[in-house]
Amino acid sequence: MAKVAFIGLGNMGGPMAINLVKAGHAVTAFDLSAAALAQVKAEGAAVAATATEAVKGAEFVISMLPAGKHVLGLYLGEQGVAAHISKDALVIDCSTIDADSARKVGAGLAAQGIAFIDAPVSGGVGGAKAGTLTFIVGGDAAHFERAKTVLGNMGKNLFHAGAVGAGQVAKICNNMLLSILMVGTSEALQMGVDNGLDPKVLSEIMLKSSGRNWTLELYNPCPDVMPNVPSSNGYQGGFMVDLMAKDLGLALEAALQSQSSTPMGALARSLYVAHQRAGNGKLDFSSIFKLFEKK
Ligand code: NAD
Repeated sequence: MAKVAFIGLGNMGGPMAINLVKAGHAVTAFDLSAAALAQVKAEGAAVAATATEAVKGAEFVISMLPAGKHVLGLYLGEQGVAAHISKDALVIDCSTIDADSARKVGAGLAAQGIAFIDAPVSGGVGGAKAGTLTFIVGGDAAHFERAKTVLGNMGKNLFHAGAVGAGQVAKICNNMLLSILMVGTSEALQMGVDNGLDPKVLSEIMLKSSGRNWTLELYNPCPDVMPNVPSSNGYQGGFMVDLMAKDLGLALEAALQSQSSTPMGALARSLYVAHQRAGNGKLDFSSIFKLFEKK
């Protein structure tokens, strides 16, 4: 059992913290939202009045916040908690943020003798609730090994991607590729439908042919081809367009910084942002299929 501070108890952080409580860890939680705190309190977590109070004496400090500015502010801002974290603690940021901010937080904490890893997740709210998230970690191998004590209670697949920041880079590479596959699968399926094909039959053919990919295997974007996926449920649940657009923005920023050529990623970002602006932000990201549908 470990003493864990958990900061950021939203859609993802709430169920992750609850899984740590269920695994027997002593969790002290903090969030700006009283409602979010009440939920984890009801499941057995202790709640703190401030982030500073939450981190005191913790062996692990875990954060799950919206963006880089929140993570930088939490640890290194004017009211930052870095000075109050034990030197023996391991800080684990699970938020999806730009790699630069992750490196800044890592360096700022290292200057105070505190260990840090970035550990963004894949698997969504369903994975957070079920404790089946994938963690993609950037940081020292020894810190990765140590983090398994708590990450193993919130997730199934734990990857070590490289140095601090590498977790964020690996995650946005994956999500950029996923968005490209989703757009490509959607336009191919719709072209088949427009030419008189049954999308179920076309999906079966492509699944056994060279167009096979994850979206066809597990997440078909065309309604009623596959049961139990968001496309067959009005594009509810799953991974929101808003979040895909955010991750593609991070991918594009990273590409600009490294001067990488990512034409497909840039196009996918434009399509997802247009789809978001058309009012589809809260739908699952497979709803990009609607962009190609004949109305
Ligand atoms: P969310 O908006 O539901 O939760 C964020 C929480 O952080 C809120 O409860 C908010 O009150 C709290 N917060 C913000 N600033 C704070 C501060 N300074 N101190 C304390 N609490 C603060 O967001 P979410 O869906 O839980 O996502 C969290 C992170 O996980 C994001 O970086 C997101 O990109 C990533 N992510 C989300 C999903 C998903 O499906 N929702 C999947 C993978 C990764």
